[in-house]
Amino acid sequence: MADIAKIKQRITKLRELLNYHNYRYYVLDSPEISDAEYDELMRELKQLEEAHPELITLDSPTQRVGAAPVEAFGVVEHPQPLLSLANAFSDEELDAWYRRASNLLGSRKTDFVCELKIDGLAVALAYVNGLLEVGATRGDGLRGENITQNLRTIKSIPLSVPKEAPPRFEVRGEVYLPKAGFKKLNEERAKDGLPLFANPRNAAAGSVRQLDPRITAQRPLDIFVYGLGWAEGKAIPDTHWEIMQYLKSLGFKVNPIIALCHTMDEVKDYYAKWVENQDALPYDADGVVVKINPIPFQVELGYVGREPRWAIAYKFPAVQGTTRLLEIGINVGRTGSLNPYALLEPVQVGGVTIKHAALHNEEDIHRKDIRIGDWVVIQRAGEVIPEIVEPIVSRRSGKEKVFHMPKTCPVCGAEVIKPEGEAMHRCTNAGCPAQALERIKHFVSRGAMDIEGVGEKMSQALFNAKLVEDVGDIYSLKEKREQLLNMEKLADKSVANILNSIEKSKNRPLPRVIFALGIPNIGEETAGLLAEHYTSLDDLSGATQEKLQEIPSIGPKIADSIVAFFRQQQNKKIIEKLRKAGVRLEAKKVEAKKLPLAGVEFVITGRLDAFPRQEAEARVKALGGKAGSDVTRKTNYLVVGEDPGSKLDRAQALGTKTLNEAEFLELLKKSEGKLK
Ligand code: NAD
Repeated sequence: MADIAKIKQRITKLRELLNYHNYRYYVLDSPEISDAEYDELMRELKQLEEAHPELITLDSPTQRVGAAPVEAFGVVEHPQPLLSLANAFSDEELDAWYRRASNLLGSRKTDFVCELKIDGLAVALAYVNGLLEVGATRGDGLRGENITQNLRTIKSIPLSVPKEAPPRFEVRGEVYLPKAGFKKLNEERAKDGLPLFANPRNAAAGSVRQLDPRITAQRPLDIFVYGLGWAEGKAIPDTHWEIMQYLKSLGFKVNPIIALCHTMDEVKDYYAKWVENQDALPYDADGVVVKINPIPFQVELGYVGREPRWAIAYKFPAVQGTTRLLEIGINVGRTGSLNPYALLEPVQVGGVTIKHAALHNEEDIHRKDIRIGDWVVIQRAGEVIPEIVEPIVSRRSGKEKVFHMPKTCPVCGAEVIKPEGEAMHRCTNAGCPAQALERIKHFVSRGAMDIEGVGEKMSQALFNAKLVEDVGDIYSLKEKREQLLNMEKLADKSVANILNSIEKSKNRPLPRVIFALGIPNIGEETAGLLAEHYTSLDDLSGATQEKLQEIPSIGPKIADSIVAFFRQQQNKKIIEKLRKAGVRLEAKKVEAKKLPLAGVEFVITGRLDAFPRQEAEARVKALGGKAGSDVTRKTNYLVVGEDPGSKLDRAQALGTKTLNEAEFLELLKKSEGKLK
């Protein structure tokens, strides 16, 4: 049978590929393909093996986890294997997992524990007579690497446990690098000319698997414990939920985002909540782990191959992919900056086709050593433009080309310069048509004046037809109705719609107007900050550098940029046009009572990862809330960061509601959304 021969060939090929990628991922901490692509190869192999069970071999990657331990660390035999988890990528696959488990449990009802699937590396910590004896990686599940000395440098791993703990036991958890620590580590590596880590998971694995523990000690690693491997000499609780509370009481760090769910609908709600909010988490999570709660049920359900039947990883949609960088294009921005962007071979990442990615500037391209023709890892996060994480150097053919910025502007041909101390190259022609056009596109865009019906294409058409030469002209379009109607494809109705949305935009809040003007270096956030301190555009345009710098987080560069903008005659004229047209250039008076957090008092304890405490308090206040310093009966929420102080005890005594950092960020985001 020719078909079977073909299938055998494909299976061999898939096994080779998976073994190779396992080695790069687990041993070198340097993957060449994205997790989604790896999962796809694994899925294909599993399907072929399911259809042809006679072809399954013990050494197939479907039957084994990870990779063999590296001998240099010393090898630890795991008394109980550390296995993997089956994946679900849709509600249907999750339901199918539950159906299989229910079939075995019969009429007995079960509850579930939901946890975030932290993207780091699995470790097993064995304690003997109250002391941490061995810390090991998962390795191939049966044998791991002895990295005790390295794990001892992680402050959240207890070196000793209270005497109530069992005399011998093993906890399992995920060591990870928080996003902020990852960013800092890569910045330092870039400065030292070292290759960058592709993501926090590889950085954490690379940091823990160091032969010199002093290097590990310098990395801000952390751990979340997610289970008990085994225990001897003491009875332990018989549900996973209670075990987690028990481990917490012994001093282990358990992720507070853990939930006991009674139905599959609750499980799905938990998943939906964290798919939506994963960006706000201070660490990477790549899914949700759902576990059957009662331990006797877990024992009964057991394992199939390398995966327990009693748990499943419901993965978040992919954020990384790999593809070819076909060309680097240049877009001239509204301030004359030459912005390089990547043209990619179209690729699907998490269900979205990606064709372009941001590239920031020439320095960044060279720092990451990205070359035209490279295979690259791309990443998308939420709605932001995808970016290139790194080139895959091992896939180079030698034909890749190093990129250089053009010496002349690709739009107007003027000379291009790179001002001292700046990262961007700039076109020297202030009248460059690309700049004028980009300013118009920015003004009408969503976060700015949000003029529906006037998108990028319409801006271009209006600009080409010389109907709009600067943003002030937008508001005199109603006097040019005839010309508008003469424009290609514009019907009476669309003209009416456009004029209507232009009219509506006259009432946008002040921060939007400041942002829409396109002052160099002023993003949405800074525009919001300025509007908190100045109640009108006139007020802001009269501000001096010194006065502006009194606002925290406004430095000399931004202050200079604002003063220079309002000094220019051309800009003064535009603002006059806006004023004459009736665009509101001052703040709407929102009654304090109507702000989303009016009357809500917060107290913060411990360190927050996302920003300093002062900034958190300022954001609460900007939303109408109060920031207290002590927990009292009036406190509505205690926000609990890292290493919380005695305020937490007080809150517990008073029954005050607590929020962890992710929940607090979510609440801020939601409330800020209401202001827009
Ligand atoms: P897995 O990562 O899918 O799941 C098992 C692991 O999840 C456990 O070992 C544990 O470390 C971790 N985990 C995190 N939070 C947990 C929690 N709350 N409870 C229980 N476990 C938790 O499986 P795996 O076998 O470690 O790795 C397979 C995955 O690794 C693939 O799906 C792929 O995404 C990735 N991978 C990628 C490549 C590549 O080349 N890109 C190569 C190999 C593996």
